[in-house]
Amino acid sequence: MEASRLRLEIGGLVQGVGFRPFVYRLARELGLAGWVCNSAAGASLELEGSDAALEGFLLRLPREKPPHAEIAHLEVRKIPARGEGAFEIRPSLAGEKTAAILPDLAVCGSCLSELFDPADRRYRYPFLNCTRCGPRFSILEALPYDRANTTMSGFAMCEACRAEYEDPRDRRFHAQPIACPQCGPRLEYWDAEGRAPAALEEALPCAVRAVREGKILALKGLGGFHLIADARNDAALARLRRRKAREEKPFALMFPSLAALREAAEVSELEARWLQSAEAPIVLLRRRAAAGLSTAVAPGNPYLGAMLPYTPLHHLLMADWGFPVVATSGNRAEEPICTRESEAWERLGGIADAFLVHDRPIARPVDDSILRVMAGREMMLRRSRGFAPLPVAVPISRPVLALGAHLKDTVALGVSNRVYVSQHLGDLQTPQAMAAFAEAAERLQACYETRPESVACDLHPDYASTHFAESLGRPLRRVQHHHAHVVACMAEQGLEGRVLGVAWDGLGYGPDGTLWGGEFLLATRAAFERAGYFLPFPLPGGERALREPRRVALGMLHEALGPAGLSDFKGPLRAAFSPAEWRLLREMLEKGLQCPRSSGVGRLFDAVAALIGLRRVQKFEGQAAMELEFLCEE
Ligand SMILES: [Zn+2]
Ligand SMILES: [Zn+2]
Repeated sequence: MEASRLRLEIGGLVQGVGFRPFVYRLARELGLAGWVCNSAAGASLELEGSDAALEGFLLRLPREKPPHAEIAHLEVRKIPARGEGAFEIRPSLAGEKTAAILPDLAVCGSCLSELFDPADRRYRYPFLNCTRCGPRFSILEALPYDRANTTMSGFAMCEACRAEYEDPRDRRFHAQPIACPQCGPRLEYWDAEGRAPAALEEALPCAVRAVREGKILALKGLGGFHLIADARNDAALARLRRRKAREEKPFALMFPSLAALREAAEVSELEARWLQSAEAPIVLLRRRAAAGLSTAVAPGNPYLGAMLPYTPLHHLLMADWGFPVVATSGNRAEEPICTRESEAWERLGGIADAFLVHDRPIARPVDDSILRVMAGREMMLRRSRGFAPLPVAVPISRPVLALGAHLKDTVALGVSNRVYVSQHLGDLQTPQAMAAFAEAAERLQACYETRPESVACDLHPDYASTHFAESLGRPLRRVQHHHAHVVACMAEQGLEGRVLGVAWDGLGYGPDGTLWGGEFLLATRAAFERAGYFLPFPLPGGERALREPRRVALGMLHEALGPAGLSDFKGPLRAAFSPAEWRLLREMLEKGLQCPRSSGVGRLFDAVAALIGLRRVQKFEGQAAMELEFLCEE
């Protein structure tokens, strides 16, 4: 029988997901010869055999591919047969780097069974993983995704791991972060003085004991440090809030199991699916009255931000604790999450009473993602671990680096009709945040070995991200803030042409030099018209008004009633100010001093919250609007 040979080029999410072993097994099963390897774009393979077997392969490839693999692009060419008899997995090919990088994946069921199986050689080993789970983006230094390009490169595999790694029938075949107690990363425990216990295996029990005793533990996790404390312990949480300078902003929680979480909060089917997914985000859930949690977890908030353990280390700790813990980012307020032991010691030393660390380096900080289910659909509030840096498909003619705006920043790289969106980088308010931002931009370009000719930044002339963009010395494209939001929605939803975009945002610089906020834009990808907007009103004190809804309310009243009307105003808002403050702010408003005008929709919520006496000064961004929402739901 005549043999045919095909060459397949596959683009998409096919590296680090067990794709090559899957191809190997399928080809062998069908009696096909040839090879498969990782390429810079994804995977390349050649197959040789009967037409029926080749056809069977092409049919089964998309249907039976590993769960996390995604084939975005498949090109099949017929090439001359070579008469090969075997199928093999070959080393990676070089070339233009466009392969998607996989996000970090929560530990899978098979690994979890091993973790708690006393007969397994990885019994209670906190760093086990396989081709279906484990760290990816947080350990990746460069493409292609091979061990030498990850932070696992410093760990030499032992013989047993090597055998699994090289056996195509093993589920750890080419699992790049493969490790075991003999050859992999190890835990270390330090107390507040930096002393470690004598024996390494004491590290985990020490950490378990510390949190039980009400101490605050700095835990090195997947994408950075968490600060951990017993969620039932008022004193521990009060201490954590004081030391972290975080007065009332809710803390995220980690629960030992879905069953335990269900006792504390209402969990729908869809929410349960997300909680148990490989992305394992924090999900906002409606809390139950008698949840047994300290009120300091989320003061005055009917919701809980909760997640389930997603690394083997979390599973070990949570199983030993058996109670929910606060698991908040390891940082001081407004700084980026901490990733290195030495850095943690310096930055978290004043907050944590104890440290549980390990020696697998984190290549980049990746915060927990946050998601909320509304009207039966998930809504992403923070897209980071588990999702970043998955791309969005957008037709792009030339590579471009986009740097975001100022708050809740991410950077993105557009290359080969894909936009790779970075992890959440936070607010660019501190030198640490700026350093993390610059590094993320640099690393994203380095990963894809591309230096885009053009750079996109916000139209605002004074944002730190704008200054950074200007410092790159490449052609700049300044994008209006709300237009960027609308176009991002269009890209996400695959919309073309002209749309009516509604962007209700805080503040964004308008082309007329004023601050825009609640905008209705008639927009295409390239241009927009301002079709409508909320009436702007003055914010006495600018930035300070963002923290003080009472000032926002005063600005709105001034606009609505005029100076004379405000003199006669007898409403309860007056009691929110001292007579001196009232005089001073009214003077500022009348003279237009330090009173930038805003049409931000968020400010309307602030104003109403202050007018009805709900919240006059807020402890964190969005508090007044959230409380108004809770009140409406009651
Ligand atoms: Zn696994
Ligand atoms: Zn090993």
